[in-house]
Amino acid sequence: MVVFSHPEFRDHEEVRFLHDARSGLRAVIAIHSTLLGPALGGCRMWPYASEAEALSDALRLSWAMTLKAAMAGLRLGGGKSVILGDPKRDKTPELLRAFGREVERMGGRYYTGEDVGMSPEDMAVAGEATRYVLGKPGQGSSGDPSPFTARGVLAGIEVAVRHRLGRGELCGLKVAVQGLGHVGMALCALLHERGARLWVADLDRDKVADARRRFGAEVVPPERVQALDVDVFSPCALGGVLNAETIPELGCRVVAGSANNQLATPADGRRLHERGILYAPDYVINAGGLINIAQELHPEGYDRARALAALEVIPRRLQAVFRRAEAEGRPPAEVADAMAAEMLSAAARSRAA
Ligand code: NAD
Repeated sequence: MVVFSHPEFRDHEEVRFLHDARSGLRAVIAIHSTLLGPALGGCRMWPYASEAEALSDALRLSWAMTLKAAMAGLRLGGGKSVILGDPKRDKTPELLRAFGREVERMGGRYYTGEDVGMSPEDMAVAGEATRYVLGKPGQGSSGDPSPFTARGVLAGIEVAVRHRLGRGELCGLKVAVQGLGHVGMALCALLHERGARLWVADLDRDKVADARRRFGAEVVPPERVQALDVDVFSPCALGGVLNAETIPELGCRVVAGSANNQLATPADGRRLHERGILYAPDYVINAGGLINIAQELHPEGYDRARALAALEVIPRRLQAVFRRAEAEGRPPAEVADAMAAEMLSAAARSRAA
């Protein structure tokens, strides 16, 4: 297996392969960067088809965390851990504690938390063996990140709509939301409160029925949601939804949603730009959950009001991205990557000085 010449390797600082024979732990911890501060990123447990797939995930996700933290103005770097295994079958307290011990050995260079296949309760078990875990249940916890992510996305939609459509408010705005999970449903509630008109799609019939009842949303088949003639398309389900096939179908002027890795390839950011569709880069607009959990590291501990106030960086940063993209005639996705890279270079220079 290759690491340094791996396509997802982007000058990562550290990649650790963990093995604990007693508990059966097999995991990878990737630290992309600690230039801005200790690396923060959740732990994912997944039945990967191969070790190579697990490594790819750890490399790609840890890099994305660096960009997200930088653009959210956090004094944090990017890291991620992946545990190879089926969470339903292989997750045991011994395995979680063995993972926690490895995180502890990293001495605070890496903070972990929950991700796919993990729960706050699992973090409490891992936390028996390490201080460097966030998002445990109980007092002082930042709790469910989704409402914060949804609020950040709402603020991002407001900025994008002002920038592209010149509209100062959301009343009457037509929004298509793909995915009514933890974030999508909370976002619909916020948009509905502000008078937006909603079109929704989800694979789960109960969720779409709920959105129709609560928000008067119009239900559309999942395969049609991106093609609707609306002001905003908000992907809140899967990655890779913006690709060579879907972009020509889009009927919106703005794409702004919570899903991670919305662009299938970097070329898709340019495709959107060429179609005159304003894209809010995913890792900028969906940073609300990260901003919230990062508040657990505040010297005075977690405070909900402070976390809510900290979300204000999202619209501010997006506005800076959109303005620069317009001035330079470049896609916002490219500009966001460039801005994050500039922040990291500045941090590297000041560390070297
Ligand atoms: P979730 O699992 O609660 O919800 C996802 C929803 O999408 C589900 O209701 C599912 O049925 C639906 N879905 C799946 N495939 C679909 C399809 N083809 N068409 C329509 N709907 C489909 O997830 P979530 O926590 O709401 O997160 C949503 C997205 O936002 C994910 O990409 C996640 O990585 C990203 N994100 C979430 C957070 C957070 O705080 N939860 C933070 C940052 C990014």
